[in-house]
Formats: sequence, C-alpha cells, structure tokens
Amino acid sequence: MLLPVMMSLPTNSTVGLLLSGGLDSAVLLGTLLERGCQVQPFYVRSRLSWETAELSAVRQLLAAMASPCLAELVVLDMPADDLYGDHWSVTGRGVPGAETPDAAVFLPGRNALLLIKPAIWCRLHGIEQLAMAVLATNPFGDATPEFFADFQSALCRATGAMVRLSLPFAQMTKRQVMELGRPWPLELTFCCISPVDGLHCGRCNKCAERIEAFRAAGMEDRTHYAGEKEQTRSAFV
Ligand SMILES: [Zn+2]
Repeated sequence: MLLPVMMSLPTNSTVGLLLSGGLDSAVLLGTLLERGCQVQPFYVRSRLSWETAELSAVRQLLAAMASPCLAELVVLDMPADDLYGDHWSVTGRGVPGAETPDAAVFLPGRNALLLIKPAIWCRLHGIEQLAMAVLATNPFGDATPEFFADFQSALCRATGAMVRLSLPFAQMTKRQVMELGRPWPLELTFCCISPVDGLHCGRCNKCAERIEAFRAAGMEDRTHYAGEKEQTRSAFV
C-alpha cells in the first residue's frame, strides 16, 4: 500500500536531506538535528553557473552545524547543462534580476532531477525518508503535493521499496521558516544565481528574495554582498 507524502517532521530516525545551501534547507537541517534525527545531507551538482560558490557555502554551513547526528555530505552529479543549453542558468548571462517575478527562475524538471539520485541513494543505503524544504508559497507545478505524491509512488514502483518524501515546510510561509531559523547561522547560507567572486551579488532574483526574507522576519541580514562596504542592510531595501 502506498503511504502519503509526509508533511510533518520525522523524529528519531535517519533522514536524507536535499541541501541546496539556501535559507530553507539550512533551517530544515537545523530543525531535523534539533529533533534528534540522524541526517544524511545531499547536494546535487547540475553544472549550473552558481554551483561552485553554492557548494563551497554548503560545506561551510555543514562545518558550522557539525553534529554527531550529521553525516558527511554526499555530492551527486546530475548534469543539466546538456539539457538547458544556453539558458542563463548555464551561461550566467541574462540572469533574472531583482525586479523579476518568481516564475523567471523556473527550471524545467528541476525537482525531479534533484530528487531522483538522492532517493535511489537512500534506497540503496536503507534510508526510508528523504526530506526537502519546499514551502507553501513555491509557485511551480513540480513543487505541489500532487507532484510529490506521484513522484513518491513512481519511486516505490521503480525500486520496489518505499522511500517516503518528507516535506515538513510544505504548509509554511517563508516568514515562518525564517522564525524557525533564528538559532542557526543563516549568514552562511547561499542562494545567489549570479555570484560575484563567490559572494551574493545582491541584485539577482534570488538575492532580492533573500534580502526580503530577512527584512520581513525582522532579522539582521549578516550576508556579505558583493561590492558592499560596511553598511546596514537597509541600503538594499
Ligand atoms: Zn544574487
């Protein structure tokens, strides 16, 4: 019998976690550790233009959040440059700016590409749950509960065993997630799609979302943005 996708936090068990290095997945990592879960983090490398900076940030974040319950990062390659061609995500040219809508950063099939290898890794290593920090406000078709239920069902059929997808933030807003993240070093997270010398650019769609997330939560944004001198975050809002 197929079980539904989990919308609550798993407890006292081993869980795989898709870690993008961004705010949401970092908060989910902290929350899982806080709940006593053994966490196996995954980073999926797709040869997109921001990934060198992003993966470096992921490693720093994991070092800062080191715990006996936190396993070593597993990096899985799922190249998408052959798929996306001369798209901005591969070339780094024409990256959607701060004024663009969320839909501007849609990458076709992204969540399916991100999930498939970590899910199979979990299956091969006896891990029965794979968590992902999808929010209620995510606007894309491959971030809906229906998509995840279908994907979980297909995974089960394909592997002959259950890897349950866990989406603990699927009914939460960004602001609620930021509240949960107060104890964690969120300045070490990374979400820029146009990094400059490894730093957040402060000007792209995702940087704008990040700046707004800190502002809306009333939290100090300690991110070091490229070209930024010592100044307050209010200069960006
Ligand atoms: Zn940026």
